[in-house]
Amino acid sequence: MRSTRRMVVIAGFIAVVGLIGRAQEPVTPVPAAARQDPNIKTLVDRLDLEKYKATIKGLTQFGDRRQGTDRNRAAIDWIEAQLKSYGCTNTERVTYTYPSAAASDPDAPARGAGAGGAGRGGRGRGETAPAGTPAGNDTRRGREGGSTQFGERSRTGVYQPDAPGAAPLDPRLQALNAQPTTPGERQDVYCTKIGTTHPEEMYIIGGHMDGHGWGEAANDDGSGTALVMEVARVFSSPDVQTERSIRFVLWNNEETGLNGAWAYVNQRKDLQGKENPAGSNKYPEPKWLGMIQHDMMMWDHGMPGPDGKVSPEQRREADVDIEFQATSKTADASQKLAWAFKEANDRYATDYPASVGPHMTNTDSTPFMNIVPAISLRENERGMQIGAGWDPNWHQPSDVFTTYTDKDFRLGLNATQTTLAATAELTGATIKK
Ligand SMILES: [Zn+2]
Repeated sequence: MRSTRRMVVIAGFIAVVGLIGRAQEPVTPVPAAARQDPNIKTLVDRLDLEKYKATIKGLTQFGDRRQGTDRNRAAIDWIEAQLKSYGCTNTERVTYTYPSAAASDPDAPARGAGAGGAGRGGRGRGETAPAGTPAGNDTRRGREGGSTQFGERSRTGVYQPDAPGAAPLDPRLQALNAQPTTPGERQDVYCTKIGTTHPEEMYIIGGHMDGHGWGEAANDDGSGTALVMEVARVFSSPDVQTERSIRFVLWNNEETGLNGAWAYVNQRKDLQGKENPAGSNKYPEPKWLGMIQHDMMMWDHGMPGPDGKVSPEQRREADVDIEFQATSKTADASQKLAWAFKEANDRYATDYPASVGPHMTNTDSTPFMNIVPAISLRENERGMQIGAGWDPNWHQPSDVFTTYTDKDFRLGLNATQTTLAATAELTGATIKK
């Protein structure tokens, strides 16, 4: 009796709460399909976890792909052959010299200083701040790219086999990465989807193909390189057309200071929008509408514990981090571009959400950010999280294909869905029937 009465009361309470809920917020469930453009949905459905993994696996055969080595050059040749096989046949290369005496940008703060923050991983605070370093009452321990680093942090830096106390290297990785870097000629590779009605304008979709740290650079930045290649594959299908052009670029020398991206900007910024030859309707450098960089797409396992260790499991709140730089000259337009990517994620990604932050830093979109809207997509915020050691495989021999589970690969795939959908929207993509 008592229990029956209690149930009636509870039921009544639930009904009232339900009514209040409805009065406040009329919830009409909108099926996902109603918020999706059928053309874009079809394109996103052409992405596939196994294909994304296979592309990353292909890149890992070249070890850490360190700039200035045969394994780096072989990786560029392989990437170019893959792009051609997808139908992105108009591949080209930017050639430059590294190291170079030429200044990258006289206006830009020196790398690892000023607005760029407290330093590149490996030469910043991370190297001198062991796990669990006490920070007094203030748990904020560093700043990078405008971010404040709260909470626990872990060691960061680039693995050196001959450093005191370095863990011994797997003989396979030792052999794969043995050749040292030498100064000289370097190249970036790119191919372009030509727009049907606006061939003179383009979005740039980028990732860096070089790495270091004696592993396989599977995540940094095989995951971003594979993302760009997969998006290129889908857009290069013969039945896909876009109103505006899209350039897919794989930068070299990111790890040494964004030198490949700087070479591109310095060599090509003044060619933008120029028809050549005159009357040909050909634009060797379409006008830049935006630059979208992808760098470390797979590892989101949360903050290190007080012992400096990071969970081997992906965190349940894993997401794609879209960042713009609030101090750049294009901050307003870059912010809008970031929201467009977040909206695309809301509508088309299958498993993981995206969030937007104002502290894009330390990646190849930096050389573009005072010229055109520029954003980066990553597994975590670069300054606050990666900079504080949230990715224990960063620049380490453990950045190998076998370190990652399908959950990690799937986070990268969701970033791929996000970029594919947003770019399709921005360039007016349709599928020929
Ligand atoms: Zn990277």
